[in-house]
Amino acid sequence: MIYEIKKYGEECLVKESVPVSEITDEILEILDNMVETMHDANGVGLAAPQVGINKRFFVIDIGDGVVRKIINPEILEFSESISESDEGCLSVPGIYKKVKRAYEIKVKYMNELGEVKEETMNGFLAKAFQHEFDHLTGTLFIEKISPMAKRLIAQKLKHIKRETEREHKNRENA
Ligand SMILES: [Zn+2]
Repeated sequence: MIYEIKKYGEECLVKESVPVSEITDEILEILDNMVETMHDANGVGLAAPQVGINKRFFVIDIGDGVVRKIINPEILEFSESISESDEGCLSVPGIYKKVKRAYEIKVKYMNELGEVKEETMNGFLAKAFQHEFDHLTGTLFIEKISPMAKRLIAQKLKHIKRETEREHKNRENA
């Protein structure tokens, strides 16, 4: 099942998410649906808040043949070396801006089998992980861009927000 992806302006995107206490069949089904939704939207990652579920899990597929389902993640260490590259987000369509991220991170999470994993990742995977992790704390990448870039996208953001509000109203009236 493909979910509707929540857009900038939705409350669920700025809320702190809560840990998963148990991996239930329902959670497994949501994770499968999220993978389907991410692939359908040509994204490399999708976090639960982006589909209106404020729980701590996300999915990542950077095209390396592994679809990662990440539950209750923690970032244990950030490298001092930074990489800066363009980022986008399915919840903030049409906006791509440079974000500085740690090049390498050490992470801990649970996979869909309930196994606790500790892993060191770098490059594009580390960047995707940090982006999705931020969603769980209610942080969008546009909060991490330069003040100049923020000014440049202010109008576009307003537009996305208006669209989101309009959709809400339509739903209420339906
Ligand atoms: Zn995102």
